[in-house]
Amino acid sequence: MQELQYLQGYPNDITAQVQHLIEKGKLPALLLQKYPSPHEIRTDKALYEYVTAIKNSSIQKSQPLSKVLYDAKIKMHYQALGVHKIISRVQGNKLKSKNEIRISSAFRNAPEPLLRMIVVHELAHIKEREHNKAFYKLCKHIEPQYHQLEFDMRLYLTQLDIFGPLY
Ligand SMILES: [Zn+2]
Repeated sequence: MQELQYLQGYPNDITAQVQHLIEKGKLPALLLQKYPSPHEIRTDKALYEYVTAIKNSSIQKSQPLSKVLYDAKIKMHYQALGVHKIISRVQGNKLKSKNEIRISSAFRNAPEPLLRMIVVHELAHIKEREHNKAFYKLCKHIEPQYHQLEFDMRLYLTQLDIFGPLY
């Protein structure tokens, strides 16, 4: 039995169901039924615009993002899905900080709702550094389906691991 590394922390009955789907070879069909096609946000420029639009509609009063990009070097594991960095540097006598968001390139060819979930997660870190209650409350405020999408995103990563690309 394979260990479902992306689904650690979910209840056993849930992971048993996923295990069953995998053994029957039904995970790809299930995901394709729910998410028939990938998004078309292929370039870093398109990603920057996409993320900025979500940010402007959800997190007011924060400075523009300095950089948004797909990063092939982000290793996917249970904890790390994307990277949000606040780079602070002294400029003259002022401390300037820059907001940078890197999204794993595993999401370059993913369904749009799953990319959105990752983006919401990273944007929420602008306000909340830690994965605490306030953080998840903010995620849910920006995207009401956040928790369902996170589960689906983890199914999607499981798919990539075991069956390969979905599209
Ligand atoms: Zn995080």
